[in-house]
Amino acid sequence: MTDTLLKMRIDDNDYDEFRDPLKAMCADFPPAYWRQLEDSSPDQRYPAEFVDTMLKSGFFGALIAEDFGGVGLPLRVAAVILQTIHSTSCNAGGVVGQMYLSTILSQHASEAQKKKYLPAIAAGETRFLAAAISEEQSGSDLAAMQTTAKKDGDNWVINGTKSWVNNAQHTDLMLLLARTSDAAEGADPCDGLTAFLVDMNVALKNGVTAGVIDAVTNSNSDNLVFDGLQLPADAVIGEVGKGHDYYRELAEIECILYAACASGDSDFFSEKAIAYANERVVFGRPISHNQGIQFPISKAYIEVQGAKLIGNKAAAIFDAGKRPGATASMAKHMACEAAWGMADACFTTHGGFAFAREYDVERKWRDVRIMQMAPQGTNLLLSDIAVNDLGMPYSF
Ligand SMILES: Cc1cc2nc3c(=O)[nH]c(=O)nc-3n(C[C@H](O)[C@H](O)[C@H](O)COP(=O)(O)OP(=O)(O)OC[C@H]3O[C@@H](n4cnc5c(N)ncnc54)[C@H](O)[C@@H]3O)c2cc1C
Repeated sequence: MTDTLLKMRIDDNDYDEFRDPLKAMCADFPPAYWRQLEDSSPDQRYPAEFVDTMLKSGFFGALIAEDFGGVGLPLRVAAVILQTIHSTSCNAGGVVGQMYLSTILSQHASEAQKKKYLPAIAAGETRFLAAAISEEQSGSDLAAMQTTAKKDGDNWVINGTKSWVNNAQHTDLMLLLARTSDAAEGADPCDGLTAFLVDMNVALKNGVTAGVIDAVTNSNSDNLVFDGLQLPADAVIGEVGKGHDYYRELAEIECILYAACASGDSDFFSEKAIAYANERVVFGRPISHNQGIQFPISKAYIEVQGAKLIGNKAAAIFDAGKRPGATASMAKHMACEAAWGMADACFTTHGGFAFAREYDVERKWRDVRIMQMAPQGTNLLLSDIAVNDLGMPYSF
């Protein structure tokens, strides 16, 4: 066994010093808070008070090094933070970007960029909540993206569209991937994509138009149109043309953190299902006495435990300074499948009442399903495992 795995913490009840205060904070945002957001118009669904509380708590500067004003915690602890939030009625979709998007700056930005942005992100004063990668026409095929960045003197000029950009109207900074050159013959088709840091306070007034997508509450997604947006030379992150390499690294961290969110949702569903099963009396006894109720919960619980272990393994690899690669994809896939299974068991346990909004089961169930599609869809993750772990040909 490698040193990395020997050091892996496998106890699911560790880090209570993070879990306990977070649970107390989340208790201030009960189910009624989230249901009231769902009842609002699409442009009023952003959980602003919840996001403010989370940013002020300091937990979301977890991954930024102490030298740049952060806490410098391991990825495993960042995962614990998100798992805890999702084990309550809360959803971190409005704020999760603050935790992981800054890693692209920590890993690839210049010293000047790090000094300029990281301390304010760590303090929650500057919001870095959005990433504009997907486009309607190209979908999963990032190499086919149409948004371009062309040099004009020292500046870059951006034209094109992006879709499903979460939190675009609630962020100060946004990560943008745009094509700056064609990939060379025979090279990775994603070569030539460049990562930019966009100041949205400027861009939304001049060069970018946003339109809210009427979708589930916790996505707060926008379609964006870039019409000659001017970006300064120092908006480029790292090397021109290497943006997709950086994005792949970021996606591994993203997968591990979204796996943690899904595992937290699983905890929410199992707690809810067990409590309801013990309380609901039909045929003269609590339904928890019936194996038809117990076994689906037990089965899903086994899958959840397995998913948590692989998630911890992926985080341990990252925390040992290595790339988790396909292990991150496995962690996200397993956690999402396990959460879906536990959600289904919770549905069965609640009978018809699972559909009543006041029980909160159907709301969380929708949140869990989204994670099978975004940020990385299941098919993309399976392809990653087939190619990188199993040596099969590239299929996407
Ligand atoms: C709630 C939500 C939030 C999102 N947030 C963001 C965000 O913040 N920023 C951002 O940039 N994007 C975001 N997205 C976009 C998301 O990343 C895309 O939806 C995703 O990449 C898939 O693209 P698509 O929807 O165009 O599907 P398509 O590419 O049209 O694919 C449709 C289906 O076909 C499958 N498929 C396609 N090609 C293949 C193949 N070769 N083999 C097997 N299966 C294939 C896909 O896996 C998918 O299941 C978000 C999406 C949602 C729903």
